[in-house]
Amino acid sequence: MTDIKSMTLPEMTAALSALGEPAFRGKQVFSWLHRGAESFEEMTNLSKALRDKLRANFLITVPKPVRKQVSQLDGTVKYLWELGDGNCIESVVMQYHHGNTVCISSQVGCRMGCEFCASTVAGKVRDLTPSEMLDQVIFTQKDSGLEISNIVLMGIGEPLDNLDTVLKFLELINHPDGMNIGMRHISLSTCGIIPGIQRLAELSLQLTLSVSLHAPDSETRSRIMPVNRAYDVDALFEACHRYFDRTGRRISFEYAMIDGVNDHDWQADLIAKKLRGMPGHVNLIPLNDVVESPFRPSKRIGAFQARLSSHGITATVRRSLGGDIDASCGQLRRKAMEEQKGENRQ
Ligand code: SAH
Repeated sequence: MTDIKSMTLPEMTAALSALGEPAFRGKQVFSWLHRGAESFEEMTNLSKALRDKLRANFLITVPKPVRKQVSQLDGTVKYLWELGDGNCIESVVMQYHHGNTVCISSQVGCRMGCEFCASTVAGKVRDLTPSEMLDQVIFTQKDSGLEISNIVLMGIGEPLDNLDTVLKFLELINHPDGMNIGMRHISLSTCGIIPGIQRLAELSLQLTLSVSLHAPDSETRSRIMPVNRAYDVDALFEACHRYFDRTGRRISFEYAMIDGVNDHDWQADLIAKKLRGMPGHVNLIPLNDVVESPFRPSKRIGAFQARLSSHGITATVRRSLGGDIDASCGQLRRKAMEEQKGENRQ
């Protein structure tokens, strides 16, 4: 059965005309799906005969919210969704002054192996489909009642390791007959897959690119991020410079502060040196303690920020939301997996 929600509007229109339907039907079905219809029965402006025909040919994905946690501190809502095949992923809604932002996953697990990250501990299971990415926005909004205006691709997975799907998702989420979320309201975060950054640069999309830097020197970066052994940090900075030259879009660099590993002044100096000629923004993230990881949060965030500022680099410290609900990526799925293992053992 074909996953109808992964189709673009032209694809849907073509599929419906193959069933003998006029072109406007495509748009009707598209907009029902993007508003969160869970079955063809709900599509009351279609004839019963057409609904039956659609049901016989297409499948509508509907993720199940198996866990939902609401932060008492700041209203952050975290979902663990079960997908059609039983795999689970996470999405988090954060309420900011500029609007509600949903952080979504792009893969089930991750194969990038960053040493400090909970999402990658058990490796990658599979890529998500366009509809599974879209559903995280549609059903988070539908279930929470919070209207979503911004999206960050910063949940579980590496978006540039599933780029074709991500590009299709962007086309779908951007569509005026669907969620209609503008590219300028979307951020994509990567651990630094250079060919993917190049492809994004060529497309010159108006989204915000975030690069998970975490260390400006090769030695440290290779130690904490295996991807650096394939795409070295100097080549990464070069790709970032080219991205900026091509798109004119400022890049945001993510930097999780790890005690004694990447929080030295010389590393701040090196970031400044390598950013020269490009208006980068550095986002310092207090490290989330991951039980499996040998790393601890740095106590030098303020000093590091001041050192970057002394070089004229804008650095902000990320406000941590949902501290009471395991809201950082990968933690809830990990916990559920551990509990399941426990149950299986009993
Ligand atoms: N794969 C993508 C997006 C997912 S991770 C990427 O690497 O950018 C989203 C962000 O959270 C990344 O910047 C990641 O490095 C960071 N992160 C992962 N584990 C963390 C932890 N324990 N503490 C703080 N930030 C973490």
